Amino acid sequence: MAINNTADEEAAAVIEAAAATAALLIIDVQNDFCSGGALAVNGGEEVIAPLNKLSNFFYNMGGKVIATQDWHTENHISFASLWPIHCVRGLPGAEFHKDLDLSSIHLILRKGTRENLDSYSAFFENDNKTSTGLYAYLQSLGINRIFLGGLATDYCVLYSAMDAIKLGLVTYVIKDAVRAVNYPEGSAEKAMEAMTKAGVKIIESGDIKGIINGA
Ligand SMILES: [Zn+2]
Repeated sequence: MAINNTADEEAAAVIEAAAATAALLIIDVQNDFCSGGALAVNGGEEVIAPLNKLSNFFYNMGGKVIATQDWHTENHISFASLWPIHCVRGLPGAEFHKDLDLSSIHLILRKGTRENLDSYSAFFENDNKTSTGLYAYLQSLGINRIFLGGLATDYCVLYSAMDAIKLGLVTYVIKDAVRAVNYPEGSAEKAMEAMTKAGVKIIESGDIKGIINGA
């Protein structure tokens, strides 16, 4: 059955080549955003099971997996205005949730590190021009498609997805792998509408294998 083997190998090579242009971006699955945390997102830890499956899938297929951490100083500017004290660097609240599988993550990116500037997006800080370096990383690897999950839908996922679209990346948000703060009330729905309008594709984690394979 040498012919079949060759065909299988060729098919596998095609899928691998397609996967190599894709990345999974896991946003802020940290203790402070999960149950019991300082800025807990309702059901935040529910994103972990689908994300663990997906990170293993991407890793095994030759795609890249990136995880971000909100990483603030003790006196970060966001604590004075909108948010309670959260994700202070080096403290337990800033750590990844213990159930998040870190074994398939290639790159950990910390954001919001400057005292006087917040960063919701994984690509640019909130001045909309200071780069985190993530886009250059993706470009250098030839990655042009990005799949987003994590916390929270209406802030860091939203800002990251909108920047990804602006940067020309084909952008997917995985509905069953995100949860929203929904503060103020209605912001979860607004975020989904804004992303859809901007061209972000809203999908379920079960769709991803087919999207990669069909590419
Ligand atoms: Zn923050």
